[in-house]
Amino acid sequence: MRIAFGCIGHETNTFSSVPTSINSFKKGSYYVGEEIISAFSHTSTITGGFIENAKKLGMELVPLLWTFATPSGMVDQNAYQILKNEFLNLLRDAREIDGVLLDLHGAMVTEQIEDAEGDLIQAVREVVGALPIVTTLDLHANITPEMAEYAEVIIGFDTYPHVDCYDRGLEAAEVMSAIVQGQIHPRMAYRQLPFLTSPPAQCTMKPLMSEVLERLYALEAQSEVVTATLSMGFPFADIRHAGVSVLVTTDGDQQLAEQHVDEFASYIWEIRQAFNLNLVSVEQAIEQANNTKEKPIILAEGSDNPGGGGPCDGTIILNTLIKNQVEGAVIAVIADPESVDLAIQAGVGNSVDLNVGGKTDPLHGNPVSLTGYVKTISDGNFVHKGPMGQGRTGRMGKTVVIEANGIEIILTEKRIQPYDAEVLRSVGIEPTDRRLIVLKSAVHFRADYTPIAHQILEVDTPGVHSPDLFSYDYHRLRRPIYPLDLDTAWST
Ligand SMILES: [Zn+2]
Repeated sequence: MRIAFGCIGHETNTFSSVPTSINSFKKGSYYVGEEIISAFSHTSTITGGFIENAKKLGMELVPLLWTFATPSGMVDQNAYQILKNEFLNLLRDAREIDGVLLDLHGAMVTEQIEDAEGDLIQAVREVVGALPIVTTLDLHANITPEMAEYAEVIIGFDTYPHVDCYDRGLEAAEVMSAIVQGQIHPRMAYRQLPFLTSPPAQCTMKPLMSEVLERLYALEAQSEVVTATLSMGFPFADIRHAGVSVLVTTDGDQQLAEQHVDEFASYIWEIRQAFNLNLVSVEQAIEQANNTKEKPIILAEGSDNPGGGGPCDGTIILNTLIKNQVEGAVIAVIADPESVDLAIQAGVGNSVDLNVGGKTDPLHGNPVSLTGYVKTISDGNFVHKGPMGQGRTGRMGKTVVIEANGIEIILTEKRIQPYDAEVLRSVGIEPTDRRLIVLKSAVHFRADYTPIAHQILEVDTPGVHSPDLFSYDYHRLRRPIYPLDLDTAWST
């Protein structure tokens, strides 16, 4: 059994002003052919799961192209065309394959295509004809009717933080093997809900979604169900199909798949009002930290999360900490290559005058002028040790730690979501020793930080990844949609 596989991945924040060019992919993650196998073997990733189960199942993998750019704004049309052509050419050259495994995100938007994955899966379908296409998707996929039409089976992540990527990779390979051997005949049913939710409310480590997840697992445990997916969607894409969708795949029974998907979608629709947020202002968060002896207290700044297209150079919290003379805080991270270079020129142990952050746009705050002490200089490479992406190398680019006004600021060359505590430890900061840690992350940090955090506060700052859905000006999104339009109706 020969299975071609690969990825063109992006989560596009259409509100973000950070451009997404061909270089964003080539300088992000870009592997061709066997390079993919070396990059992902023994990693806790989707493709790591494909590779591991292929070995066990006697499946020969034919690696094509695997590329992923850090989430940012609309993908340059030419960049997408180049990558798509490259992918399809490699696929055409792959002789005598029995199927295609795709490792996609499901929220890529190009300048001309709102649903790039739908476009890509359709193009793959045109090349491979009736051969099975099984794709994994992120929990933040905005699943469209086209994706559901052209893929034979879609397997979405169950968890947020995404700690089940590897398991979904294993599952996808297993499903592919069973299809090719004629052991199962998948029938997939898809429903889209007129429902938009915000990342902090989608977290499966918290009560509402943890209960939803139990129901999903119970559905998947039924013998005739092959797989089921609840995709929470990515609300920071102003496209028609953003939002929540449900997929159920049975073995050979379309009617049963339709019945299950209706039941599950109805259940989600009934509990829609419970997807609430509990945001606090930066000032309230500081007050809480000042009244607590235990540490560390995490301030999660979802609105500047580079993992969802935030610029990662927002300064609103830094500014407020300085104004309130808060000491003993760590900011992880501010992406500011210019300041990194100046700090490196100054050298370890010296002081340097900087205008930190705030360079992408004024929405996330203005540059902060300060004199800092250069404490650490690093190449920014670290190995993930937390539950997400364990074993993968993280690359922050040139990285420095600056101490200013009693605050440690990690300045990086690249935009990076600091969900793994190794971001701090690799530059000499022990998170459990610090009083207050600002993380530019909405939810993923919870996987590694929940065991060590005394308290987690979700702070409300403006930004292109703000959890407040009412702060966006949507034009293309289908309406009515809950909660933006409170009288939205839906039934099976
Ligand atoms: Zn995601």
